[in-house]
Amino acid sequence: MKVSEGIKEYFGNIYESVTTISMGMWITFKTAFFERKVTLQYPSHDIIEGKPKDASLPAQKNLPLPFEPLLGASQQNYRGPLNTQLPERYRGLLGYAELKCISCLLCVQNCPIDVIRVKGVKIEGRKGKAPTTFRIDYSKCMFCGLCVEACPTDAVFFTRQFEGATFEYRTLIREFISPELYLERLQLAEVAKEKAKEKKEKKQESEEKDQ
Ligand code: SF4
Ligand code: SF4
Repeated sequence: MKVSEGIKEYFGNIYESVTTISMGMWITFKTAFFERKVTLQYPSHDIIEGKPKDASLPAQKNLPLPFEPLLGASQQNYRGPLNTQLPERYRGLLGYAELKCISCLLCVQNCPIDVIRVKGVKIEGRKGKAPTTFRIDYSKCMFCGLCVEACPTDAVFFTRQFEGATFEYRTLIREFISPELYLERLQLAEVAKEKAKEKKEKKQESEEKDQ
């Protein structure tokens, strides 16, 4: 190496060190003195609004029925930076698409710890069975994904909801079929049963005539 090249490299290294340290120091200085401080007292403050949330929860007497959405799951509508930083295949709380469900019970059979409960009835115009009960006990779920893999219609899936902590155990049991829909389904099932019965009787009659 020539002497001139050595001197050039020496001063080049000094220049690089000074500029990179200055850049780092500038970022520190800017953050410390000019940027707005964003410190949220999570989880006692809502991560969307930054307002205190449900401070009364432990003392609250009239807690909603299990059909109500999870308490504390404010990020169900949350679209902030925490969500966007989650990995693509993040396993959040399980979600359920009722219209896709055929009540095949594969999720139930594949769950090793009995987290999901499903019941369904046959109604007109619906493939498979229409669910009358779909319940997930989030307190038991270990996010193994066996139910998600087994579901043939992608009706059960992982959401990106990560906040499920609650002071009340029963709010971790979620019913996805409302009582109104449950009753409606039972009525439709009766109608479907009657129609099937009539069809069967007509078929039998026509077979008897043919003989
Ligand atoms: S993720 Fe695993 S533990 Fe949770 S409901 Fe599905 S199969 Fe059961
Ligand atoms: S496996 Fe899928 S389609 Fe079958 S009952 Fe479960 S959620 Fe419904």
